[in-house]
Amino acid sequence: MIIEVARLGQRLVRDDRVTTHAALVSRAFGARRIYMSEANADIRDTLRGVNRTWGGDFEVVLEQDLKGIIRRRKADLFGVAHLTMYGEALDAVLPRMARLENMLVVIGAGKVPREIYDMADYNVAVGSQPHSEIAALAVFLDRVQRGRQFGIAPPGAARRIIPSRRGKLVVDGEPSGRP
Ligand code: SAM
Repeated sequence: MIIEVARLGQRLVRDDRVTTHAALVSRAFGARRIYMSEANADIRDTLRGVNRTWGGDFEVVLEQDLKGIIRRRKADLFGVAHLTMYGEALDAVLPRMARLENMLVVIGAGKVPREIYDMADYNVAVGSQPHSEIAALAVFLDRVQRGRQFGIAPPGAARRIIPSRRGKLVVDGEPSGRP
């Protein structure tokens, strides 16, 4: 499944760390790209550096017209899932998403315009309490992919982690032995 994420808006107080985390979680949980309108351009470089070390070609795309992205992806037959505490319960929506091949996940930073609720194919609540777009995104991506995202090693990694009980075990190169 191809997954992309769109993050709408940024809070009045600039929150580069939260924005970076939205990109890191998108990458680590299997999305190929995140679109953001009001992000610091340094975040793109941070994620490029993460790709160089840990592999893959995840992209941060700075895009002012996020509604345009939603329209375009709907035309490409991506399912558009907007995460909001006001939406339908995740467990109720997941079975209806089972046949989707591609998905655009929309998260908010500040208030999300009403129009987005209407444009989305699914308005999905990860519990009906307010929390965080990053928590909602992580839980949603994990549930949609049933944990399979963690079994895929991003190609081209300079370093990789060997899971261990204690300590940090990091080796050079890819799992196949390719240096
Ligand atoms: N009133 C917001 C809402 O509609 O969910 C909470 C705002 S929260 C600061 C920012 C973003 O976090 C929201 O736009 C939404 O994407 C996500 N979020 C927060 N709680 C959520 C929940 N329970 N389920 C799904 N998404 C949530």
